[in-house]
Amino acid sequence: MMEMEFCYCCRVHHPKDQMRLYSTRQGMRWRCLRSIEAATQAQPVRDDFGRQQTAINRETASRQAEFARHVRAGTGAPPTAA
Ligand SMILES: [Zn+2]
Repeated sequence: MMEMEFCYCCRVHHPKDQMRLYSTRQGMRWRCLRSIEAATQAQPVRDDFGRQQTAINRETASRQAEFARHVRAGTGAPPTAA
């Protein structure tokens, strides 16, 4: 009979040979390799994408604010840095 352990990540039981003890805030928990791999692969990509998107949004917002300031001041489009 195959030994099973409860996976705290999937909240189901998996065969023990597909699992590793994983350190959590609650202590050591069993977690399957599949969920560990999915988390370690997805995390950096998601973080990096989020950072890039935030930077783009901030730049777009500041450019729009700058343009609006010039329009309100009646000077037309902002001068281009020549
Ligand atoms: Zn699992």
